[in-house]
Amino acid sequence: MGGETRIKTEEKLRFLEEEMAALREANLYVHIRTISSPQGAWIEVDGKRVLNFCSNNYLGLANHPRMRQAAKEAVDRYGVGPAAVRTIAGTLDLHLELERRIAAFKGVEAAITFQSGFNANLATIPALVGEGDVIFSDELNHASIIDGSRLSRAKIVRYPHNDPKALEELIQKEQPFRRGLIVTDGVFSMDGDIAPLPELVEIAERWGLLLMVDDAHGEGVLGRGGRGIVDHFGLHGRVDIEVGTMSKAFGVVGGYVAGRRQIVEWLRQRGRPFLFSSATTAADTAACIAAIDLLEESTELVDRLWENTRFFKEEMRRLGFDLGRSETPITPVMLYEAPIAQEFSRRLFEEGVFAMAIGYPTVPKGKARIRVMLSATHTREDLEFGLRAFERVGKTLKVI
Ligand SMILES: *Cc1c(COP(=O)(O)O)cnc(C)c1O
Repeated sequence: MGGETRIKTEEKLRFLEEEMAALREANLYVHIRTISSPQGAWIEVDGKRVLNFCSNNYLGLANHPRMRQAAKEAVDRYGVGPAAVRTIAGTLDLHLELERRIAAFKGVEAAITFQSGFNANLATIPALVGEGDVIFSDELNHASIIDGSRLSRAKIVRYPHNDPKALEELIQKEQPFRRGLIVTDGVFSMDGDIAPLPELVEIAERWGLLLMVDDAHGEGVLGRGGRGIVDHFGLHGRVDIEVGTMSKAFGVVGGYVAGRRQIVEWLRQRGRPFLFSSATTAADTAACIAAIDLLEESTELVDRLWENTRFFKEEMRRLGFDLGRSETPITPVMLYEAPIAQEFSRRLFEEGVFAMAIGYPTVPKGKARIRVMLSATHTREDLEFGLRAFERVGKTLKVI
């Protein structure tokens, strides 16, 4: 009996073995590296100390002494878990304080926090649009926007990347519909380019559509002292919904929505990840508050991030590398073919540089690259070390 059951289980799971074999065959199987040190310019990866060009820790806050201290104090005061979802009995005064601080930092009416940026999108889109409505979504939007859109049951119309003219034609073509929502990443995470938000605002205002921007990679990076893409373009009060994450420049974990009072109030009633999943811990929440303290006190970290970005990109271009259309610290080193990108990444690792190859399906076929993530934690010597490694590997593989 027992043996037969096992055979049946194996048969049921054979499709997974086949799928995974196909991934390996196509060089698309993801090997996950293990980190055994704090985040910083140098980290220990698979037992080796390497220069870190992979993390979203733009400002070095993930291991900042003030952040660690805030988290420790919160554990001592509140313990480790919220013990209920927020609407039932899990809202801490810290959660409300963080929401007030985010709203003030962003210059908006109100904010609500979620467990992650991914959850913020899953909560928000289905709460705002449904059957009979249309979502106009940039074709390169993040997976969490795509999934949130699918959950909403609204019609999804993808528009060509960063193309306001094509967007407006599609809006016209879809008429009439009930409600419409335009949604875009602020900074696109694989190319490092920025959404044309002023044009999108104009279109949303002309057609009376809601406008939502996911500022995950703009938070702590763009705008005055890292206040994000809306501040970068001076569009305060004209973007309905800003989604953000605390897991990138803020160095912790968690997501939020910042914007109009009614939208935030509605999400407290109808945002499903808010209603049915426990909140971030006191330690996370206190660390996020400390991150806002640091950003409000000084622009030094944001300034250093941009200085590093300018230096590294200029030197890379001088070496002859193609950096695509990046306008931010996200630096794609375009290699186009997936096997070359993987070999490049492997050789960089041997040289002591941790920079991941990214291929299909994260980016389109034929657009493989190494993605370098710059940070305020890198010193000039670190960046020069990285540049020398790129130069050596680039010449060996005849890319430059
Ligand atoms: C990283 C990212 C997210 C997810 O944020 P988490 O807080 O890690 O869940 C959502 N949207 C965009 C555009 C992102 O880059």
